[in-house]
Amino acid sequence: MRYPLEPAITQECGWVKLRVSAPPPAGSAPEFRDLVSGTIVLTGARAGIAAAGRLRTQATLACSRCTKQHKVRLDIEVSEECALEDIDQPRAYQGAASEGSPIPILNGNELDLSELVRQLLNLHLPPRSLCKPDCAGICPDCGQDLNEGMCECNKQAADARLAGLGDLFSPAED
Ligand SMILES: [Zn+2]
Ligand SMILES: [Zn+2]
Repeated sequence: MRYPLEPAITQECGWVKLRVSAPPPAGSAPEFRDLVSGTIVLTGARAGIAAAGRLRTQATLACSRCTKQHKVRLDIEVSEECALEDIDQPRAYQGAASEGSPIPILNGNELDLSELVRQLLNLHLPPRSLCKPDCAGICPDCGQDLNEGMCECNKQAADARLAGLGDLFSPAED
């Protein structure tokens, strides 16, 4: 995700438009396997560089009910403060834990969006996801995927519940 360093962005209000179409940068969560694409505009500001734009990709996630791998589309709106600091300088990361510290976008004498994209991807990774809204999950007892049909233990449990209901409505015997 390297680009020539345009002198325009070192001036206030100077800007450059960068097209992104690349695999997820190193250090992205392993759920990101698909191409990341979009557009990012870097604009020189009084203090640092403003990055704005949009990135699209897909994350491959395990369903939180049945564990089936499925893809989730992500459409990430980019609005970040960046700095012309080297992404490999440890100094650039000292403030990384603190909220709102600018993201370094320099790599030698080139622009490099990999740290920006890495942070954005990891920030937007969905914490949980379902393969479909009505996923039935797996049976905790026998492990059957209940999307493919009810297992024997569920049938028995259903029968037992029905039997219980039957008791409820039949007159108590004394
Ligand atoms: Zn599922
Ligand atoms: Zn079962």
